[in-house]
Amino acid sequence: PFDVLVVGGGPAGASAAIYAARKGIRTGIVAERFGGQILDTLGIENFIGVKYTEGPKLAASLEEHVKEYNVDIMNLQRAKRLEKKDDFIEVELESGAVLKSKTVILSTGARWRNIGVPGESEFKTKGVAYCPHCDGPLFAGKDVAVIGGGNSGVEAAIDLAGIVNHVTVLEFMPELKADTVLQERLYSLPNVTVIKNAQTKEITGTDKVNGITYIDRETGEEKHIELAGVFVQIGLVPNTEWLEGTVERNRIGEIMIDKRGATNIPGVFAAGDCTDSPYKQIIISMGSGATAALSAFDYLIRN
Ligand code: FAD
Repeated sequence: PFDVLVVGGGPAGASAAIYAARKGIRTGIVAERFGGQILDTLGIENFIGVKYTEGPKLAASLEEHVKEYNVDIMNLQRAKRLEKKDDFIEVELESGAVLKSKTVILSTGARWRNIGVPGESEFKTKGVAYCPHCDGPLFAGKDVAVIGGGNSGVEAAIDLAGIVNHVTVLEFMPELKADTVLQERLYSLPNVTVIKNAQTKEITGTDKVNGITYIDRETGEEKHIELAGVFVQIGLVPNTEWLEGTVERNRIGEIMIDKRGATNIPGVFAAGDCTDSPYKQIIISMGSGATAALSAFDYLIRN
């Protein structure tokens, strides 16, 4: 059996595997797609100490770094079940294989919810964005829209309003769902327009985004706004469905951890975007991966 089995091969999982392997303990990592979300990321400018890099390049160097150590890498394998036994934890893969480990670090990440309208996938990284902390500065001085009037949408709009020329918030429902204090802050900003009852129909463009078309759900009228960027903010979904009924998760499916990365199951730790950590970023995921690995090691020497 493994001493530490990491499930998920993004920044959190890679960091956890390296920290564990450096303790000289038997470490394995299972990943559906080694690299994770950064494989879909173009420019990265906020990975501190590296002025600029690109997602696929960072993913390749994560893999290279992990391979420097004695880590058993099981790529293109999806975990489907976790079970705590008396002396170890079992993780079953889609392939039918069952892995045993004394500790497990869950780092299965998350995915942005898509709106699924024409133009969204076509213009990804060409004006369609999901992360204001990452891509906001690319739209400095330009006009953008934020789709979604929940907390993350309204926070994104407030953040972007300080960088871009103008922000239009499109909310499908007749009211914004964000907390009152956020709404008050939003409405106090001079360069923000809020449009409610707006059903996004299409993100338009040629080689990059040039506008958005929506239907006014009250009148049925179709409207078009010219802009350079669209931030989709309708939710980040953690990849934790397979843990249903085992590891404790919050209302939105995020794994609940303490400051050491421990879950409710002894020996099971979690890190990165699949947890209830308030901010989802590469550098934060790597930090929590390191925390989880050190906690797993601590658990091993005490048990
Ligand atoms: P992920 O990167 O999501 O990795 C999860 C891993 O788990 C993957 O290997 C996946 O295949 C695997 N997995 C999932 N389910 C299973 C399963 N059941 N069994 C086995 N393996 C599984 N952050 C920044 O800091 N700066 C940026 O500029 C930036 N830009 C971004 C741009 C885009 C388009 C996106 C989508 C995200 C961006 N982010 C950025 C966010 C950043 O990518 C994430 O915070 C980070 O990748 C999270 O790391 P993670 O390891 O927790 O999860």
